[in-house]
Amino acid sequence: MTAFPPLHEYALAHSCPTCKVKPGEPCRAPRKAAALAARNGLRAELGLAPIEDPGIALHLARHDAGRRHYRRDVVAAPWPEDRIPGQRYDTLGGAA
Ligand SMILES: [Zn+2]
Repeated sequence: MTAFPPLHEYALAHSCPTCKVKPGEPCRAPRKAAALAARNGLRAELGLAPIEDPGIALHLARHDAGRRHYRRDVVAAPWPEDRIPGQRYDTLGGAA
């Protein structure tokens, strides 16, 4: 366990300013999803593993909201050398 969850969890914890989905729901981004499916189709033909990034099909504005939230948590947390190993310092409320 790390002190902070991954950035896509921060992004998912916010509603999306672009497609207006609620926190926790994936973005309604059909072109992003189609582009990812096409790319993974090509990767499969080449014998490569699919791209499995849960944040890749989220809208940019939502990523930005997640990054702002993450930066606020980092600033509010103790310095890295003062953190308790295994403890999380995020404010996502354990929902993520
Ligand atoms: Zn969205």
